[in-house]
Amino acid sequence: MSIATRLHEVLNSLPQGVRLVAISKFHPNEAIEEAYREGQRIFGESRAQELKAKHETLPDDIEWHFIGTLQTNKIKYIIPYVAMIHGIDSYKLLVEVNKHAQKAGRVVDCLLQMHIAQEDTKFGFSFDECRNILKDENWQALENVRIRGLMGMASNTDNEEQIKKEFCSLYEFFVELKNTHFASQPTFNELSMGMSDDYPLAIATGSTLIRVGSRIFGQRAGSEVLHPGLA
Ligand SMILES: *Cc1c(COP(=O)(O)O)cnc(C)c1O
Repeated sequence: MSIATRLHEVLNSLPQGVRLVAISKFHPNEAIEEAYREGQRIFGESRAQELKAKHETLPDDIEWHFIGTLQTNKIKYIIPYVAMIHGIDSYKLLVEVNKHAQKAGRVVDCLLQMHIAQEDTKFGFSFDECRNILKDENWQALENVRIRGLMGMASNTDNEEQIKKEFCSLYEFFVELKNTHFASQPTFNELSMGMSDDYPLAIATGSTLIRVGSRIFGQRAGSEVLHPGLA
């Protein structure tokens, strides 16, 4: 099956209000171009230098999202154009992104990554850590980042009940923050959850952004560890 066919299969299954971030990491420009010709405009990458190279060689109207772990020394490669950073997993990183965004004269959309999986290999804040940061830290003074919502990855398991439970807990936490710290910010409205194997469950539990890679583009090249959180 072609990329185009698989892309449309995913797109046709999306209810209104849910957008697809096509995760193109480790796939060549040709694969992205095939999806682009079908109208897909939002793509996600997990390495700053790979994103930079693709941004420089692919059409300007692509909306690039950064997923995964962002090292502070790599922020500069992506800050001039990145549309959304999904993996903010420490207050320090948020401060660093703000600093670079200020230099670039931009306001950058960010999602706070929450730890919802059972495995401790996955990154992110616990709910309490996140509550404390929003309560204590002076995040509202960071004028060049805009917290648009939350992101999370469910456990890598066949147990659908477990996955559903994790997505539901993230949705409930999202609603809690929406009604408290972000009550006056209608732009806190994105919930990034759902990947190739679990995106239907994520949609059923309130996702607004699904991050789907291999279901569209096929297996990623090589046998390297693609993302420490997915190892
Ligand atoms: C790689 C990756 C995805 C896409 O995974 P697939 O299983 O290929 O759909 C989604 N989110 C994150 C954070 C990733 O690193």
